Amino acid sequence: MKLRRLTRKRATDEVYENLRDAILNRLFKPGERLHVDEIAERLGVSLTPVRHAIQQLASEGLIEIKPRSGTFVATLSLDDIDATFDVRIALECLAAEKAMDRIRPADVHKLEELLKQLRKPVTSEETLRKHEKANSDLHLLLIEAAGNRRLTEIYKGLNAHLTIARIHAAEHNDPRPAKEIAKRFAAEQSEHDEIVAALKARDLPRMKTAVEKHIGRAKSSLMNAWKSQN
Ligand SMILES: [Zn+2]
Repeated sequence: MKLRRLTRKRATDEVYENLRDAILNRLFKPGERLHVDEIAERLGVSLTPVRHAIQQLASEGLIEIKPRSGTFVATLSLDDIDATFDVRIALECLAAEKAMDRIRPADVHKLEELLKQLRKPVTSEETLRKHEKANSDLHLLLIEAAGNRRLTEIYKGLNAHLTIARIHAAEHNDPRPAKEIAKRFAAEQSEHDEIVAALKARDLPRMKTAVEKHIGRAKSSLMNAWKSQN
């Protein structure tokens, strides 16, 4: 009995991972209807783990279950994006406070490596993906450096919503002018440098200012992109 339970749990976890990736990688688009039986068939599993995985994703806000209507990939409003970024700023400032005294030299070294990676030119889908990964790794490292597991969990949940927002903003996107993108990357670069420099200098007010500026700018950039697409 114990063994069967574990097996079923693993199936749910695998379906969960699979669906989550599919949503975050735009295979399923915001607002798209999800069919449990179709997903089960495509993944070669029974309906139960798919239903469990969908419940889990719904509790994280990535999926919306509408009674008598169906199951959909979550969509976001402009207000949602606004609110989510405000919470993110608060969490990253709290993390800065906690991380300041306890961050290890090895983590500082990792941050510097990520800054190096972020300086590489973005010229293709592939380099853009690497850039985005390094960006989110940098922020996650700062959060984890706070050494508060609850904070990390909440942050990760929040991040999933922001990813949905990004997907939304880029949806029917003609690529934005190259000049504008280069400008955004340059701003982002100096903001990241400033955050890490403030951390190394153990200067908390400076770091909070840098975090607020960086995420505040990312927020208006995303909200503007969202407005132009919706
Ligand atoms: Zn960043």
